[in-house]
Amino acid sequence: MNIKELHEECGVFAVQGNSEAATMTYYGLHALQHRGQESVGIAVLTEDQKINCIKGEGLLTEVFADPKKLQSLVGDTSIGHVRYPTNSSRGVLNAHPIVVATTDESIGIAFNGALTNATELKIRLEKNGSVFHTHGETELLGHLIRRCQGTFLERLKKSLLEIEGAYSYVLLHNSGLYVARDPNGIRPLSMGKLSTGGYVFASETCAFDIVGAEFIRDVEPGEIITIQDGEVISTFLETKCTHALCSMEYVYFSRPDSDLEGKNVHAVRKRSGIELYKEAHVDADIVIGVPDSSISAAIGYAEASGLPNEMGLIKNRYIGRTFIQPTQELRERGVRMKLSAITSIVKGKRIILIDDSIVRGTTSKHIVALLRTAGAKEVHMRVASPEFKYPCYYGVDATDPRELLAQHHETNEEMREYIDVDSLAFLSPAGLIKATEHEGSRGVNCGLCMGCFTNKYPTNIKFDEAV
Ligand code: SF4
Repeated sequence: MNIKELHEECGVFAVQGNSEAATMTYYGLHALQHRGQESVGIAVLTEDQKINCIKGEGLLTEVFADPKKLQSLVGDTSIGHVRYPTNSSRGVLNAHPIVVATTDESIGIAFNGALTNATELKIRLEKNGSVFHTHGETELLGHLIRRCQGTFLERLKKSLLEIEGAYSYVLLHNSGLYVARDPNGIRPLSMGKLSTGGYVFASETCAFDIVGAEFIRDVEPGEIITIQDGEVISTFLETKCTHALCSMEYVYFSRPDSDLEGKNVHAVRKRSGIELYKEAHVDADIVIGVPDSSISAAIGYAEASGLPNEMGLIKNRYIGRTFIQPTQELRERGVRMKLSAITSIVKGKRIILIDDSIVRGTTSKHIVALLRTAGAKEVHMRVASPEFKYPCYYGVDATDPRELLAQHHETNEEMREYIDVDSLAFLSPAGLIKATEHEGSRGVNCGLCMGCFTNKYPTNIKFDEAV
């Protein structure tokens, strides 16, 4: 799925205890830019305990093109965010961090995920006098915190217990930095330590290398962490906590150089290619992975099968952001402009085409057409994840369920015909779990969310509101 049919909605980064906190956040967000390209924001806690925030629409390098912007963010504690929005929450107003400031305190909030009871909470808060300034869900937590009594940590805990869904929050408050992960650990969040002292938190560990931080551990499901006087204070939400990390993080969203729950993403994808070979091999001449996220699975498949792994598709790296526009026409045009087939490699060959996942199927159809036009003799598609058949309620813009290929085509044969391949096979849910090495651990779904593949979600979904 090289041209994004699926959109992870965000990436978060936070620094505590470094005088260059905003600059570090800039570099951390640079490593997380693949998680969202629509808007970006960085906020710092100033010496006089105020929150200074700059955000804008566009890529990090566009929003912070003027170096004076970053230089103006002075403070040793910072949070940052990159974002892909849902249709209803576009624009700079809804970009994160959101700052809720009153006479007695300021709260800066950024998060990755989606709240499944957001509508219900918003109606309740509005009835009780809250006035919302944005359309997104981010502001909700600020309003909930404002209505609680106690220390900031106590108020945060009480508020998070009212929220349902998936979240990895990074928060700035007059009293410092706070991070929190939902009780199912659906969205990733890791903690690192800077060699110069201080701590960093990020959606993915790939953001640690760039700032010279050493990975310490993942933030646990239901855990809240704050740093006070250089000491890590950990506390847990008083509710049932379990592990249900989004399996699509392994399949597609995360960078191959990131580690999730101690497992390297490239290695997991490579194993998914090996499992795919074991489950659904077919005679062919070469293996081709769809660049970039399917390359690791293609390496695994080729190694297991003994077939040459060829670079039959080339990605044009100089296409602008036009292709994140969520219209069907642009997506289709994007495929044509973004990929080319290498005729001398594919002509006359029986190809095993490896893709990490299929959502709508339109991009797959175009890629197959590219290969056929370049003279491929046969194209056998092997997909390194199960059929993406059900919606995601946890922060992934998985489009209208009726558009999902596996939802509106009843049989494998119907899907094969639509994509126009000689054969089509998907990795089984068991094969994916095996590739992640979550097998045999942590109960149902082995510590993974597999909702979009199995229709079994780790939280209760209020179906009438969440779709
Ligand atoms: S439903 Fe799918 S995309 Fe959404 S969190 Fe679960 S595994 Fe990830």
